[in-house]
Amino acid sequence: MLNVYLIPFVSLFRDQGAAETRSFSTRGFPGLPDDDYALFESYCPDPECDCRRVMLNVMGRHQGKEYLASISFGFDRAAELAGPFLDNLNPQSRYALSLLEAVEQILADPAYVARLESHYRMVKQAAADSSHPVQTVLKRWRSDAPSNVGSRQKRKKKQSRRR
Ligand SMILES: [Zn+2]
Repeated sequence: MLNVYLIPFVSLFRDQGAAETRSFSTRGFPGLPDDDYALFESYCPDPECDCRRVMLNVMGRHQGKEYLASISFGFDRAAELAGPFLDNLNPQSRYALSLLEAVEQILADPAYVARLESHYRMVKQAAADSSHPVQTVLKRWRSDAPSNVGSRQKRKKKQSRRR
């Protein structure tokens, strides 16, 4: 699950995303700078795919705009790849392992996991509903996704040949 194939929850549901994005502060956590960390959720927006996962992208308030860790977590806890684990398709910072430890503690909170699962359902329902207002965001996202880059380049080539 590469981040570029996933859509940030906040880009679909701005207000709710801002209100319900989990954050935590560290003081003397082993291996981590003291900071406020936010867990930005990304979900697979393919309505045909029931992957039942979330990607948690960790950002530190005082550590720039790069993700410090991308953590994959599945809602089917008995599944082989349930996680949480550091997603090796995405770049990880030197703090990633310590962040994984911190996030494991947060994921022990059933209320938080239930919230993630309800966000997942919101994304899938919106993606499946052609009249949902987030469809415009999804359409833009799909046309920017790397899987479509090839066909877009081909289209461009055709256009330039016609000129
Ligand atoms: Zn999926």
